[in-house]
Amino acid sequence: MRCAILADIHANLSAFEAVLQDIEERGGVQEIWCLGDIVGYGPDPSACIALLRQQPHICVAGNHDWAAIGKLEISEFNPYAADACRWTGVQLNTGDVEYLEGLSLTLTRDDFTLVHGSPREPIWEYVTSALSARDNFRCFDTRYCLIGHSHVPAVFEETDAACEREEMPAILRLGVNRLIINPGSVGQPRDGDPRAAYAIYDREANIINHYRIPYDIEETQKRMAATGLPDLLVERLTNGW
Ligand code: ZN
Repeated sequence: MRCAILADIHANLSAFEAVLQDIEERGGVQEIWCLGDIVGYGPDPSACIALLRQQPHICVAGNHDWAAIGKLEISEFNPYAADACRWTGVQLNTGDVEYLEGLSLTLTRDDFTLVHGSPREPIWEYVTSALSARDNFRCFDTRYCLIGHSHVPAVFEETDAACEREEMPAILRLGVNRLIINPGSVGQPRDGDPRAAYAIYDREANIINHYRIPYDIEETQKRMAATGLPDLLVERLTNGW
C-alpha cells in the first residue's frame, strides 16, 4: 500500500494540482493522508476542497480550516492571516463548510497518528524543536506521528537518551525508533525552497519518500493579487518563507 502525505495546501490550486500530477506519474497511491489547512492564504479554497474530496483520502482539521468557518477565533492570527481568513470564509459554499465542520482533530491509520499541529495540541502547537517534540512523544500511542502547521519539513526521532531533530531526507527508512514527521507544505513552503513539498509512504518498502515539486507560482500569485489578498502573502511564495 502507498499513501501520499500532504499538509498545508492552503488554497493553492496550482501547487495542489502539480502534486497530484506528480503522484500519478509515480504510479499513484491508494489514499491521501491530509494533515489540515486545506484553506487559508491562497486564492482557491473551494476548488481545493472539491479536488481533495474527489480523491480517496482522510483529513484532519487545521487552524485555518476551523477559523474559516468561525470555529476558532481569528484574534490570535497575525493581521495578514486574519485578512485571508475573512476572505476565505466568504468564498466557501455550504458543502465546503459542512466538510470542514466534520474534520476530526486526530486520526489514526496503521502505525501513524495524524494531526495538524501536534498530538498534544492538534490545532495550535508548532513542533519545531527537539524540546517540544520530546514532550509530544508522550501524547500519542502509535509508533509514528505525522504533523504539519510549521510548513517546514523535519523529522524528530525519539532515542533512548533524548530526542533529535533531523532534516527530512529524500528517503526516510522507518525503523524501531518512534518518529514525528513533518512533510512540509504543499501550498506555502517556509523553508526557503518555494517548491511544493509532500511525501509518499510505501508500506511494503517501509519507507517515506519526500518530494519537492515545481509549480506555476506566478499563476497562484496572479490569482491572489486579483482577489485582493495581502501583498505579503503573494510575495512570500516566490522564495518560500
Ligand atoms: Zn498552515
